[in-house]
Amino acid sequence: MKHDCSHDYFAKAKEVIPGGVNSPVRAFKSVGCDPLFIERAEGSRIYDADHQSYIDYVGSWGPMILGHCHPEVVRAIQDAAVNGASFGAPTYKEIELAEMVCEAYPNIEKVRMVSSGTEATMSAIRLARGCTGRDKILKFDGCYHGHADSLLVKAGSGAATFGVPTSPGIPADFAKYTLTATYNDLDEVKSMVAANKNEIACIILEPIAGNMGCVPPQPGFLEGLRELCTAEGIVLIIDEVMTGFRVAFGGAQERFNVRGDLVCLGKIIGGGLPVGAFGGKKELMDQLSPEGGIYQAGTLSGNPLAMSAGIATLKLLKQEGFYEQIEEKSAYLEAGLRQAASKSAIPTCLQRVGGMFCTYFCEGPVNNFSDASKSDTEAFSRYFRTMLDSGINMAPSQFEAGFMSVAHTKQDLDQTIEAAEKAFALL
Ligand code: PMP
Repeated sequence: MKHDCSHDYFAKAKEVIPGGVNSPVRAFKSVGCDPLFIERAEGSRIYDADHQSYIDYVGSWGPMILGHCHPEVVRAIQDAAVNGASFGAPTYKEIELAEMVCEAYPNIEKVRMVSSGTEATMSAIRLARGCTGRDKILKFDGCYHGHADSLLVKAGSGAATFGVPTSPGIPADFAKYTLTATYNDLDEVKSMVAANKNEIACIILEPIAGNMGCVPPQPGFLEGLRELCTAEGIVLIIDEVMTGFRVAFGGAQERFNVRGDLVCLGKIIGGGLPVGAFGGKKELMDQLSPEGGIYQAGTLSGNPLAMSAGIATLKLLKQEGFYEQIEEKSAYLEAGLRQAASKSAIPTCLQRVGGMFCTYFCEGPVNNFSDASKSDTEAFSRYFRTMLDSGINMAPSQFEAGFMSVAHTKQDLDQTIEAAEKAFALL
């Protein structure tokens, strides 16, 4: 593969954009090569500025579950654009998408649209604090919920990749309200809740942790948190920005049959356009302005282009057999990668839930961030570079998940497995 054009663009970008990118992990900094600049994408493939194609498992970090440029989604965006890009006034499309979200999640009675996952979690936390009159929040090490101040404490994703899980710029006075616990350790959460009796507004978590690779909840973990929150008057916020409409139409909550008081969504509900949402029971949601006093707003919230892309996407996901197809393709890839990984000279551990997966370069299982941190990130980087050179685009960090789309063909999957055999053998 040649990267002359991407290389030149990156040099230029670094002069006018911090680190050359508008979101840190895109810089490929931890994998020892320059990032690809992308020109276009279609189906399972993306095309770089040097006109080479790659089988894509990043999928814009999750939203592209239909594959890139699905004709019906493209048409919906085009049709919306000719009627006006933004009005700053309510539209019928917002009702349509809200109804679809409420139908998919029985615990969402009302939902408010925002423009990113960060806004969704940040707003849900404000609502939880406002409703309970409590200041503290509890999150889990290695979970990422966007870059709001109170959430960049022991965070996953890029924050973990670059070794700054708690960012400078966050006053200690803010960070002290964020308690952090070990993912999958219910006893630890219970003792933290007991030590902070009547002080914790909410517990926020990824129901499957996708920002430290792919860590499923252990049996009883989600159920235990639900019970604890109910008993202690704590708002349980389930952050399904990544898992929502991915691991089932009703997300991880449908899959594991545990329900949050508030739910955060993003990625897939925008079909690739900037969208987030948070919703839950009426009693909580009605405390938002203008009904209640808890303020939250957005110039582009409910944007008609984004709503149209989301509606078109969700309609396609509702079709009979959609999630079975994602499962089948993902299981096929998993089996092939496991077989390929058996040729590796160093231990590997593959974890997957539905269409999200990760290979760690250590003994498994990986149940929390401390386990994930044992992965040999040097080996990951070598694996990543060999895969990229074979035309496979994976997330450029150990602490991210891979995403399957319905557009991936058997040929794509076989080509990926073949490339992985080579990459594992070279380790
Ligand atoms: N929550 C989760 C679980 C996420 O994975 C992400 C982004 N990867 C966010 C929140 C933040 O979303 P955004 O990047 O759209 O702000």
